[in-house]
Amino acid sequence: MQRRDLLLMLIVAACGGAALPAWRRAKAAEFEVTKTDVEWRAALTPAQYQVLRHEATERPGSSPLLHEHRKGVFVCAGCELPLFRSETKFESGTGWPSFWRPMEGAVGENVDRSLGMERTEVHCRRCGGHLGHVFKDGPPPTGLRYCMNGVALKFISEES
Ligand SMILES: [Zn+2]
Repeated sequence: MQRRDLLLMLIVAACGGAALPAWRRAKAAEFEVTKTDVEWRAALTPAQYQVLRHEATERPGSSPLLHEHRKGVFVCAGCELPLFRSETKFESGTGWPSFWRPMEGAVGENVDRSLGMERTEVHCRRCGGHLGHVFKDGPPPTGLRYCMNGVALKFISEES
């Protein structure tokens, strides 16, 4: 094992896995759906847990939802709140499922200054689960690109 890897493991262990971002601790009481960390861990897959609860980013190109083109709705993997309609999905070429508009009142936003840049973090309005980020380089009519982790979403088809 490399010394660097060992150091990283010790830091992660000292933080009890990964520390919650400060904004998430501050807003925790505002979300309608709340669970303890232990309950979230039990309710979600490890990948869902890391993205929704600790703002990890899935590997680009890894989501099966990239190739989902049926009519339907994308719901939160944490609480099943409907978030995006299939009509607002587009091919961004980034490797993450991308949408130009969320459903009304579905998401909350927060300024994220991690990784040495300022980005707008996007999360589920109901459970606070981290979904991804929004950028201003999307297509008409909004010009926005909601760059989402597919693992944070579930697709419900409206086709028979
Ligand atoms: Zn949710």
